This record gives sequence, structure tokens and C-alpha cells, in this order.
Amino acid sequence: MSGDGLSGPVFRGRRRGLMFVLSSPSGAGKTTLSKRLIALNPDVVLSISATTRKPRPGEVDGQDYFFLSEKAFKQKIEAGEFYEWAKVFDHYYGTPKGPIEEALDEGRDVVFDIDWQGARVLAEAAPDDCVRVFILPPSLALLRERLTKRKQDSEEIIRGRMQRAKDEIEHWQEYDYVVLNDDFSRALEKMSEILHAERLKRVRHPWLEGFVEELMKEE
Ligand code: 5GP
Repeated sequence: MSGDGLSGPVFRGRRRGLMFVLSSPSGAGKTTLSKRLIALNPDVVLSISATTRKPRPGEVDGQDYFFLSEKAFKQKIEAGEFYEWAKVFDHYYGTPKGPIEEALDEGRDVVFDIDWQGARVLAEAAPDDCVRVFILPPSLALLRERLTKRKQDSEEIIRGRMQRAKDEIEHWQEYDYVVLNDDFSRALEKMSEILHAERLKRVRHPWLEGFVEELMKEE
């Protein structure tokens, strides 16, 4: 595969895609970071979640989320169409299975922008494929400021979100990496470094087994 540091005349082999799971409290910059990470790595796919919450201004169905009614969402749960799903605030959120399995089998990496509940399920289901990164805001005051600036939610909702932010942060130790988003460019750089290093892990290169076997026969 190109771009994974193992390509070249000899080290050529197919790599399994990895699941790059990002969590953070709302307002810590995770969505922007994941979008920038994908823009820098066009071979990486973003998992588009389904949700029952209403679109925010500027959000596009099928691009930011698949916006579903509660009835349609529950039907998909019944049909086993989600890798994982959770109730966050008063709405359902879920990760559709199909496109992810396809991408991983093709050796493409998938970025997930999901909460700690989803991250836990994915890590349990696919421990070898999953890399969990937690993004921390530099302060709760900044988080509150960002949530207030959106001007889309009432004070009561913002208060709820601040509580939810603390609940989310409490799970930071379940993650493989923690990135402090006090400087956007530096945080993005760190995320790219994590992604590129994780791509080189032995477990992601099952072809190495056959390669080393052949190598040892050379002399
Ligand atoms: P928002 O409504 O602000 O877009 O997202 C609210 C929270 O739901 C965020 O923490 C986001 O990461 C999480 N979330 C989004 N999609 C999913 C999903 O498919 N599964 C889970 N478990 N959480 C999700």
C-alpha cells in the first residue's frame, strides 16, 4: 500500500484498515480535527453516523450524519445494521456497519467521531483494529465559550452539555492516546503522527508472515 511507509520494491503487502476512534467532549474541536485529518489523508474514510437529532444549520444529510426518525432508527437497530449505537443527550446515535466493513477489508482506515460508549464497544469488538484517541480541551471555560458561541442552543441545553462534557472526560483513561487541543495545528500534527505510526504496527500487516518465511529460505 502506498503511504503507509512499507511500500517499495520489497516491502509490498496488503494492510488491514484500522479504526481510528476519536472521542472528546462536545466543543473540544473533534469534528474539525477529524475533517482536517481526512483532508490531509484522502485514503482515510469518515464513518458517517446515523442520528435522530435534528440537523444543525449547515449540516447536510448523508454528509455530517444520516438524519433519521426515531422509528427508522429503531428499525435499523432491530435489523442489526449498527456496529454500535448509544443514546447521547436525548437522541440516538449509531454507527452503520456496511460501509465500514467494506473499507476495512479494502485496507482503508476509518475515522469515527463517537462518544466513549461507542468507543468502548468498537474496542471490545475489534481490539486489534481499533486505536482510540481522546481529545481534551485546554479548559472547561473554553469549552463553555465554544458551546455558547454556537448560539444554537438554549442555556439549559448548554448546561446539560457541560455536564455531559465532564461525564465524557471521566473516561479519558480508556483511550490509547490523549491529545490536548490547545493549539489546533499541533493537535492535528499529533493525530497524523499517531495515525502513521499505528499503520506500521505488525498486527496490521498479516502479509509479513509469508514474506519473512520466504525471506528465511533465501540462503
Ligand atoms: P453532536 O450531536 O454534537 O454531533 O454529537 C453528540 C455526541 O454524540 C458526540 O460526543 C459524538 O461524538 C457522539 N456520536 C456521534 N455519532 C455517534 C455514534 O455513531 N455512536 C456513538 N456512540 N456516539 C456518537
